[in-house]
Amino acid sequence: MKPLIAGNWKMNGLTPALADVETVAEIVSTSLPNADVLICPPATLVHRAVQTAAGRIAIGGQDCRPEPSGAFTGDISAEMLRDAGATAVIVGHSERRQYHGETNALVAAKARAAWRAGLLSIICIGETGDERTRGQHLEVCKDQLAGSVPEGANADNTAIAYEPVWAIGTGKTPTIAEIGAIHAHIRQCLTRLGTARTAIRILYGGSVKPSNAREILATPEVGGALVGGASLTAADFHPIIAAASAK
Ligand code: PEP
Repeated sequence: MKPLIAGNWKMNGLTPALADVETVAEIVSTSLPNADVLICPPATLVHRAVQTAAGRIAIGGQDCRPEPSGAFTGDISAEMLRDAGATAVIVGHSERRQYHGETNALVAAKARAAWRAGLLSIICIGETGDERTRGQHLEVCKDQLAGSVPEGANADNTAIAYEPVWAIGTGKTPTIAEIGAIHAHIRQCLTRLGTARTAIRILYGGSVKPSNAREILATPEVGGALVGGASLTAADFHPIIAAASAK
């Protein structure tokens, strides 16, 4: 499978940001990178981003609620994202786990909701800085995978994003050897969980930038990147897409 380069805009982006969607989409349609490209803008921009992208790149959501509809003020369902033209959704981002108390079981329910609506679910896992210091990162990721990745996950409906919490938005990244080791571990865990999960792409996320993308994306078992800050402008996001092509 091609590497997946996904941008997570978080709670950033007003109407003028659609110009960056247009620039990225145009570059992708002319340079034809060997990568699947996805931008996940805030929910308010999903539909307009889909119209702007016009099929040249994919557009996704950043979260969904497990239920298809109902009395859940302020929430958004996977079906609503699909209706707006999204083809993917991020679930279990560490900011959701931290600020909204999301558990592995809830994240698994969200992943199932994504599949029900025909969306690719990008399931996020990753240890905190304390867990890494205590040497618990392998165990933490194993438990998060076991709890958050439902039965039925395969390479067509799921990607895993390994995002060490301490690397998100901090400018810090694990060493290439550490990224290689944890991705190999995640691959092993997925394989143990079931053969259908063997080919699932494992994205790396956490301070991916134009300057480190090539090295990170060349690491064995790194099947793409989930990019926060550096996905906000086409000027930063494009070199990361180009680095994936060089893989
Ligand atoms: C993220 O939030 O998913 C992320 C990886 O952020 P950043 O690239 O800014 O570290």
